[in-house]
Amino acid sequence: MSRFLSNLYSSLKEYVPGEQPQDKKYVKLNTNESPFPPSPGVIEAVTDEKIEKLCLYCDPESKLLKQKLAENYSLEPKNVFVANGSDDILNFAFMAFARENGAAFPDISYGFYPVFADLYNVNAEIIPLEDDFSIDAEKYVDCGKMVVIANPNAPTGKVLTREEIEKIIASNPGNVVLIDEAYVDFGGESVVDLVKKYDNLLVVGTFSKSRSMAGARLGFAFANEEIIKDLEKIKYSTNPYNINSLTQLMGIKALEEQEYYDKNCKIIAENREFTVAELQKIGFTVIPSKANFIFAKHKNISGERIYLKLKDKGVLVRHFTSERIKDHNRITIGTKEQMEILIEKLIEIIKEEEV
Ligand code: PMP
Repeated sequence: MSRFLSNLYSSLKEYVPGEQPQDKKYVKLNTNESPFPPSPGVIEAVTDEKIEKLCLYCDPESKLLKQKLAENYSLEPKNVFVANGSDDILNFAFMAFARENGAAFPDISYGFYPVFADLYNVNAEIIPLEDDFSIDAEKYVDCGKMVVIANPNAPTGKVLTREEIEKIIASNPGNVVLIDEAYVDFGGESVVDLVKKYDNLLVVGTFSKSRSMAGARLGFAFANEEIIKDLEKIKYSTNPYNINSLTQLMGIKALEEQEYYDKNCKIIAENREFTVAELQKIGFTVIPSKANFIFAKHKNISGERIYLKLKDKGVLVRHFTSERIKDHNRITIGTKEQMEILIEKLIEIIKEEEV
């Protein structure tokens, strides 16, 4: 730390992203990326001619991209916000909507929520998940704070129903209810259409997971026009050109090729069910997941040991050290071949641990 850093940030505990190793090639099941490349149109969008245009600024309004998103989700462009990954939008939302009243979110959820709360000195009400790792929606009813819920939740993969979410939205008219739908395309139920009904709902999505564009950094959000204007105000006060022109183009192309991504999501769901069944056969308990990852715990071997031994064998999964979940690992669902390698390596590890 330099002597120049503001006291405000000296004790800030920053978010720790999953490993992105550059040294060797792993079967990479640690950061919930898609194992599939972007669709053909996305790859073709980045032509030499478009790269030459990088000498110009990108469209700060992302007009075409917003139009396409509005079309695909049956809303108006005025209900759409786009940013540099959905992390950018979560950041803006904590900055804009939680400072006075605070924010409520689960103890086990996306690790960035408490970091943003800390960053903006937001009073955080951290609500423990139930013993089975589910979210009790009742605990967010009329809570007097911005509510932030990932649905499906991460790292558990568990979902709330539309009815439960609507109850939370309807009972908190004085605060924004942010539903983070990063993983919704793998089997969850979206509440995007409720944006037309409730002026306090902010639904956040991303191109990083089901749309195979994690490295391009593109997130989107839907809400009432006034909430969108607030987010734009923050964006124009920080970084108006926050989505580069190539990413904007690729996002439009991805939306034009939705069937490709729907097919991939179906494959991931099948691979997920295959992996769960195989893991159960070899002594794992797996939480039922509607996301592109599963959260699994072995009956005899610690989560950390499994993580380290898998890494040694060239398979990366995500291990969290917090007390409540340290026996689990979060495993991203990849191709069938990748999942077969995972199972093969786990069988090896179990045998090694027995001797
Ligand atoms: N929300 C959740 C629940 C996530 O797990 C992630 C990915 N780590 C994000 C948001 C952020 O995704 P991105 O910034 O790539 O859109």
